[in-house]
Amino acid sequence: MSSSPTRRTLLLGAASSAALAATAVPAAAAPRTALGTSTPPPAPALPTWGTSRVALFFAAHQDDELLQMGSQVRADVEAGHQVVVVNCSDGSASGARTGRLARQLGFVPSVEDFVTARDHEFLESTARLGVPLQGRVISPDRYADGTGTPEAALRIVADWTARFPTALVRAHSFVDAHRDHRAIGEAVDGLVAAGTLGRENDVRFFFSRVYLGTMPTPALQLTSRPVGDVEQTPFRDHDPAHGRWGVGYLSTWNYFDSHRADPVSYWHRASSVLPPPLRRRLPAASLLSAAPAGHGC
Ligand SMILES: [Zn+2]
Repeated sequence: MSSSPTRRTLLLGAASSAALAATAVPAAAAPRTALGTSTPPPAPALPTWGTSRVALFFAAHQDDELLQMGSQVRADVEAGHQVVVVNCSDGSASGARTGRLARQLGFVPSVEDFVTARDHEFLESTARLGVPLQGRVISPDRYADGTGTPEAALRIVADWTARFPTALVRAHSFVDAHRDHRAIGEAVDGLVAAGTLGRENDVRFFFSRVYLGTMPTPALQLTSRPVGDVEQTPFRDHDPAHGRWGVGYLSTWNYFDSHRADPVSYWHRASSVLPPPLRRRLPAASLLSAAPAGHGC
């Protein structure tokens, strides 16, 4: 008897789970047949994860899952949800590649090597937050850093939310100066407006601490967990001899320091329940000047 597709998928691990998922029968929708029927249901390529709820996180760059959503990731893991964190952008545009990192390495790393280093930081970060192997996903549809659009983000978001229609959904805020973040927020907010995502999805939009106190802010709720040094290690370790570049910290050091002092995830609800004028998405230009040096992403 051969091993089941599900077992093979588990053994293949995170790197290929997203690619497999692209052809998967939605686990949540897989029909169950009664005993004795002759045709078994198609085997899902993703585990069904028993009766646990799935929590889907859509994070743009390889550090946002910690800096903006880390406490919520940990909270959902602790609640027993099956957490999936989807990396949606490749992080290639960070100025650290030709700046702070290049000076420390003594050479300018290639974009490919830079992205690979950031992917390793993401995979280790999510592991330290407690995300299971099959939930650490680098989307095969992710967009180049700095090119995010709601349409590109929707291709990723719609794929996963169709697969898990009852999942809890966590996204960036649509009130954010970074287009890669904002694209995800707008895509998810659009699904709420269309009724595709509803109350059962408990949709939360994560707001960057960079803008706290600098602009009109949606009513924020807080999720706090003691995530800190252990979870930040993949981004802070700079040990080139052992393949660790610490790109995250070199890219956005002030953000990491701020998060360590206050490891809170700030979030708000969809635009449909925000009071005007916050219901209207704020123009990015009004936010760009709010981000101090070292708070890039
Ligand atoms: Zn980011």
